[in-house]
Amino acid sequence: MTAKTPGNVFIISAASGTGKTTLVSRLLSAHADVRVSVSHTTRAPREGERHGEHYYFVGTAEFEDMIDGGGFLEHANVFGNYYGTSMSGLKALQHQGFDVILEIDVQGAAQVRRALPEAVSIFILPPSFAVLAERLRGRGTDTAEVIETRLRQARGEIEQSLLFDYIVVNRDLPAAEAELSAIIRAQRQTQARQKNFIEALLSEKF
Ligand code: 5GP
Repeated sequence: MTAKTPGNVFIISAASGTGKTTLVSRLLSAHADVRVSVSHTTRAPREGERHGEHYYFVGTAEFEDMIDGGGFLEHANVFGNYYGTSMSGLKALQHQGFDVILEIDVQGAAQVRRALPEAVSIFILPPSFAVLAERLRGRGTDTAEVIETRLRQARGEIEQSLLFDYIVVNRDLPAAEAELSAIIRAQRQTQARQKNFIEALLSEKF
């Protein structure tokens, strides 16, 4: 019996307000064989967020111990808090055969590209800055100055989209979800992923 082929790793990044989290949760509901890696963070939980489901919420000392112990595939400081992808969590999911999504920022994406060159990176873009500004205003939580700052940060992040393998423009949720699904499906048909099958086929007697 051949070992299970480890799942693929997908990096998904976007500027805040692009709909990345909504898209990823729709994708997970539609595909039982895709999982998201649960990150560690030092930021406080928001209402409704649960430890071990949305994030592992840890203190700064614990996070820094994990950095020193080489426990992270990547980690970054985003808006003043640490965020990181644990190596063991990712490997466990991959070895169970799941395709794994890393929903991480552009700094983390750059580190994963170096450490795991076979990871496939996808950047989600808004259709325009006007739409992005509208979505940020629609949240109703931020002042005009904060929105201005977020738009400037968004521009910097969007510039990094040129380093990603695939681009999905979120004009409309179902269409963007279908495009993401197509990328994930196609990646399962690469020759490298089908190697075990090819070998088994060629070892058949006839
Ligand atoms: P939030 O605090 O809104 O959940 O996330 C803020 C930002 O941190 C988002 O861009 C999110 O993708 C990113 N992020 C979440 N987890 C990780 C992680 O493990 N590593 C990195 N580098 N960024 C992360």
